[in-house]
Amino acid sequence: MPDQKETKPGEPILRVAVPRPFRQSFDYLPPDAANLTEFRPGCRIKVPFGRQHLTGFLLEKTRSSRVSRDQLKPVSALVDPRPLFRPELFELLRWSADYYHHPIGEVLAAAVPTPLRQGKPLYEEVTFWSATDEPCTLSGRSRRQRILLDFIIEAGSITRVELSEAGFSQALLRQLVDRGLVRKRTEPAPASPPFIPRKPNSRDRPKLNEEQSAAVTKFRAAGGFRSALVNGVTGSGKTEVYMRMMEDELAAGRQCLVLVPEIGLTPQTIDRFRQRFALPLAAFHSGLNDNERLQAWRQAAEGSAAILIGTRSAVFTPMARPGLIVVDEEHDTSFKQQDGFRYSARDLAVMRAQKENIGVVLGSATPSLESFQNAVAGRFLLLELPHRAGDSKPSRLRPLDIANEHLPGGLSELALRKIEQHLEADNQVLVFINRRGFAPILHCLLCGWMAQCENCSAYLTVHAQPACQRCHHCDSSHSVPHRCPVCRQNELSTSGFGTQQIESFLQGEFPATPVLRIDRDSTRGKNKFRKLLVEVDQGKPSILIGTQMLAKGHHFPGITLAVIVNADSGLFSPDFRGQEQMAQVITQVAGRAGRGIGRPGEVLVQTRHGDHDTLRKIISSSYSEFAHHMLAERRATGMPPFSHLCLVRAEAGDREAALSFLRRARRGIETLVHEQKVQLTGPLPAPMEKRQSRYRMHLLLRSRNRSGLHTVLDSLVPQLDKLSAPGNLRWQVDVDPMDLL
Ligand code: ADP
Ligand code: ZN
Ligand code: ZN
Repeated sequence: MPDQKETKPGEPILRVAVPRPFRQSFDYLPPDAANLTEFRPGCRIKVPFGRQHLTGFLLEKTRSSRVSRDQLKPVSALVDPRPLFRPELFELLRWSADYYHHPIGEVLAAAVPTPLRQGKPLYEEVTFWSATDEPCTLSGRSRRQRILLDFIIEAGSITRVELSEAGFSQALLRQLVDRGLVRKRTEPAPASPPFIPRKPNSRDRPKLNEEQSAAVTKFRAAGGFRSALVNGVTGSGKTEVYMRMMEDELAAGRQCLVLVPEIGLTPQTIDRFRQRFALPLAAFHSGLNDNERLQAWRQAAEGSAAILIGTRSAVFTPMARPGLIVVDEEHDTSFKQQDGFRYSARDLAVMRAQKENIGVVLGSATPSLESFQNAVAGRFLLLELPHRAGDSKPSRLRPLDIANEHLPGGLSELALRKIEQHLEADNQVLVFINRRGFAPILHCLLCGWMAQCENCSAYLTVHAQPACQRCHHCDSSHSVPHRCPVCRQNELSTSGFGTQQIESFLQGEFPATPVLRIDRDSTRGKNKFRKLLVEVDQGKPSILIGTQMLAKGHHFPGITLAVIVNADSGLFSPDFRGQEQMAQVITQVAGRAGRGIGRPGEVLVQTRHGDHDTLRKIISSSYSEFAHHMLAERRATGMPPFSHLCLVRAEAGDREAALSFLRRARRGIETLVHEQKVQLTGPLPAPMEKRQSRYRMHLLLRSRNRSGLHTVLDSLVPQLDKLSAPGNLRWQVDVDPMDLL
């Protein structure tokens, strides 16, 4: 066939990752007369794919393909003149696709802002006009044209915006173009120059205490790649320590990337960095539109922004001159993506620092046991800040046994008296309860019926204002029945407490005091959360009722009392991390109290299991002691960090289909699992077996040895791809899972 493209053997083949859920890459030929040196790994490439055109990434140039050359199609276009990622970051992305067993094309697509994913250029094209070499033939009657021409010659070139700013019309410019005196040209907008280092603002820069200076010195002493864990109690000045470590890098013109958990924390932290450094800062948060996100990304990539701050996905932000990565509140589970590409931004931050040969600092008052163990084992520098910085004293924790108490509003007599005292002393009170709504259960006092969601293995939560029953897992909403649907009697009652019930109870007890509820329901809508925080910041005596949202990193100097309504939920959780997470919440909530100068904090922990060993450790000793205790337990049971997990999930409308899928998956790896000493559990129904009308099954792989686990996964994942299953069955492989429910 004469029009078939002839390919010389040995001519390069372009291996491309397309943004589709395929685990393999696809091979293409270079376009005719292409300059192959321009085709570099990390550049975007437009390729024909089926009947579509996709924007993918060039992975590598190679000389051999599994597909015969005459079957290969040429790529349509090269999008980027230069790779979008420096080699270190590109390598990290490829590594993480392997490690998390996720399609490389989707990983790369997830790492760039939407406009780039869609194939838009990194820099928008800008049109310039400049003078040609034509001899000027303007007569005296064209005085305005003459002035504009001189203006253009003086400026070298001008854009449309500059033209109108200087007061010239488009028409006048067109006359010069028509005469051949001025020429139009289109080019990508130029990159902004690198940021100019400057000294930090030293006005409110405190003198470091001994522990802080020791931490900074220890980190400085080493160069290149090193990872450190700042294990510092709440208010110990961790942020101050990060800022000193950043100073060194910023002064040398290198960029710092700061990762923070999902919500709330960002505005306060951003303001602090802005004030201290007065350097260009790019923030990546959920409020940005596509263009703002692209702009921030560009500033990071070109090095014009010095400080890059963002949540989970910001770990992939390119840096022209990387200096340091900080992961604040490193224990926070929001660093692990829970759907699609299930990466841990915290773990990738460490891997990235290693590839970039720079430092990485993780910090928390309640480090994850994984990071704690890394520090104990010497893989991370352990930087300890066991005391609060400045003048504030640590809060005192006290268990409040409520086993035999009748609690009308969820709070014991003693707790109420304490709240009253603290309010009378002009202070603020925080009441923590990790359940939103009015009550978690509606039941019949006569026959024991409980209101359940028909789509999920879950009870319906009763909400007030407007009264309804809602499922927190599928968001379905129902009216509250007047009588029991089973025995038809009128004896329905709620049990347990949610934020709304505590709110109305406390408002009744303290009618003159503002009661502010902060949970996902009360903060829905733009800026509502910020507004509530501003109100708290005014420091007037008030009661704050909040869920986990409130426990994260906020600094409210007015709070002197924190009450934890129920500390027991984590004690008997089916998740092996239940106790760890409970300890983190209690410690973090306690850390909100007593942050003001001269205002010591008090923390009451209501429990029905005051003699539970774990709870006693959390309340009566430090989080570090608790962590050591938990690590011993994890070691004994062979759970992470002393083993590595991978959870294979299958879910389908049909229970048996999901189960059978995982049974067949299991059979395919049984021998290999044995050889690699990987332990298999399941398939078993997930603790929450049904969700959104779909049945969920788990197959858990566990191994002391990471490479053995990945050998098994390398074989398992392609098998899963090939297993036949009903069209509505979905499966996922979750490496280092955080959510086992
Ligand atoms: P963390 O991040 O550990 O919660 P921060 O860095 O926010 O702690 O510090 C808590 C408070 O203590 C802040 O108000 C901070 O300005 C102050 N602080 C930190 N370090 C010092 C210091 N060395 N001297 C005085 N105040 C300090
Ligand atoms: Zn009944
Ligand atoms: Zn539901």
